[in-house]
Amino acid sequence: MKSVTLIIPCFNEADVLTLLFKEIVKMTAPLREKYTFKLLFVNDGSSDATLDIIKSFAQRSEMVKYISFSRNFGKEAAMLAGMRYADTDYVGIIDADLQHSPDLIPEMLHAVDEEGYDVAAACRTDREGESRLKSFLSGTFYKVINRISEITINDNAQDFRIMKRKVVDAIVSMPESIRFSKGIFTWVGFRIKWFPHENRERAAGETKWSVKKLAKYAIDGILGFTSSPLRLPLYFGILSCLAAVVLGIYGFVRVCMPTAEFPMYALLLGAILFMSGIILCCLGILGEYLARVYTESKRRPSFVISETNIKNIKE
Ligand code: UDP
Ligand code: MG
Repeated sequence: MKSVTLIIPCFNEADVLTLLFKEIVKMTAPLREKYTFKLLFVNDGSSDATLDIIKSFAQRSEMVKYISFSRNFGKEAAMLAGMRYADTDYVGIIDADLQHSPDLIPEMLHAVDEEGYDVAAACRTDREGESRLKSFLSGTFYKVINRISEITINDNAQDFRIMKRKVVDAIVSMPESIRFSKGIFTWVGFRIKWFPHENRERAAGETKWSVKKLAKYAIDGILGFTSSPLRLPLYFGILSCLAAVVLGIYGFVRVCMPTAEFPMYALLLGAILFMSGIILCCLGILGEYLARVYTESKRRPSFVISETNIKNIKE
């Protein structure tokens, strides 16, 4: 029998948990001949009855496990805790609010268990129900991050997914503390099967994302997966120096003309541009070193092995 953990991050989800639990139990029932299930609820510092409800599930059913945080640490932390302590062959993540349809789980399990995929992940088909402004901003965000970072993120990818043990191990082995899962999921690689999935309406309760949280998320994503902004001063510095050279040449030509005239402003402007160019270049060079220190300090693994036939290497 293979084992499956479903991680459910919960932050003030008291209103939906009972419904979710029912749906998951119903969905897993026919699969229980083949798989043993664990439902790992991660209570992310909820201030409502979330934890009590989870505890009551745990009393009723052996498959319910839970981890409860001392305060709200955010969904990223909740997912990480779940992945770190899940000890099963397959590990899935699903939102508590029933926007992710548990009905997809049997197909996802089939993909990783029988079709040779390492990850089965949901990706949304349309952005209906989202404001134009939000779609535009998030579209721009992914264009920027994909252009300047080393990875290409599928901007429709959702956290709703089932992964093989080795994928989860790779994700957990990334030691950074400012975590941007969409980037991390992409960074580790592996064979992935996408499942088109439309978010359902939230069954109850309300979204935990505010504009501020989204902005922080976007900044974390960009800064976590590229250090190219640190290179900007170098580019500006070089441009500025080039402009200074052009002005210098202009001044020189004017001096050499028969109606010799010395354009003082060109000289001054050239000097200012040149000096600021040099300063910007120096900042850029500092930035290059800082970028390396930053990259090294994340201590990410240099590679992730998917398969091998050497015995003492753990996949
Ligand atoms: N969540 C969490 N900690 C947080 C915010 C959200 O564990 O600080 C959980 C939340 O309980 C839900 C999932 O993350 O299960 C997705 O959150 P939400 O539905 O608010 O986000 P949305 O679907 O609106 O993007
Ligand atoms: Mg939601």
